[in-house]
Amino acid sequence: GEALAVSARVAPLGSRLVLLLVEDLTEARRIEAVRRDFVANVSHELKTPVGALSLLSEAVMDASDDPEAVERFAGRMQIEATRLTNLVQELIDLSRVQNDNPLEDAEPVRVDELVAEAVDRCRQPAASKQITMASNVWAPEGLDQGGGARRAGGTADLRLWGNRGQLAAALGNLVENAVNYSPARTRVGIAARRVTAPGGDLIEIAVTDQGIGISDKDKERIFERFYRVDPARSRATGGTGLGLAIVKHVAASHGGEVTVWSSEGQGSTFTLRLPEAGAARDRAQQHAALD
Ligand code: ADP
Repeated sequence: GEALAVSARVAPLGSRLVLLLVEDLTEARRIEAVRRDFVANVSHELKTPVGALSLLSEAVMDASDDPEAVERFAGRMQIEATRLTNLVQELIDLSRVQNDNPLEDAEPVRVDELVAEAVDRCRQPAASKQITMASNVWAPEGLDQGGGARRAGGTADLRLWGNRGQLAAALGNLVENAVNYSPARTRVGIAARRVTAPGGDLIEIAVTDQGIGISDKDKERIFERFYRVDPARSRATGGTGLGLAIVKHVAASHGGEVTVWSSEGQGSTFTLRLPEAGAARDRAQQHAALD
């Protein structure tokens, strides 16, 4: 109704404008629907562990004369409480990356440090599945800080420009997924390198696993909030379904992207492509000069 009323009013201005306005309203409605879905999803995701906790606490009370049962129920309560904590933390992280502009207080961020941190974060789950982690940060020719002459680069030369915490969370999520969705005794590789691009140098960080892989149909949806290929498997590993949505937001707000290559049953490679620190700063300065 609203769309029609508007179009009737502006019809004399030409049908192109009308079309644009109608499209705008459709987009606004789509955004509203996405928001409503999100609230429904959050409520559902919160309800599950809270419901379990409530049932388990009743079970503990009923089993008060059976210490073994009490212990068993208490253990399960702990798992549910951890799940709830993870979910709330990821919701906070997601809302942060959606609302804060990381380029406002950006700083140079060393890629070798980000990679080392992500590997460290997954050391324990990887070890328990005997997954080998191999990282390779490659800087073939770094710009010398002083004269600008090319020289053999050290890994310290690979730097991104942005919010350190957000970038660490993004890479950490990709490595965590690689470990979670891989069988025992496989390999997870993290490779970072600088690539030349017309708009300025980029840094490419690829996380490769030999895990279960993702079908073409699911590839289109895994970056959506709460989308999981196999909810039971995701929950079993403490997944919330928000990790890749966070990664996608962080990549976009830093002027980059995240892509996935995967073959079912063979493994996956998730690649982050982000502006290199120097290129990102140049671009920001150009924008400032134009303003
Ligand atoms: P989750 O918390 O469930 O891991 P994510 O948003 O990080 O949520 O990922 C969404 C879904 O994408 C996962 O539930 C899983 O089905 C799929 N997925 C993500 N990473 C991988 C991977 N490396 N290999 C196979 N499937 C993956």
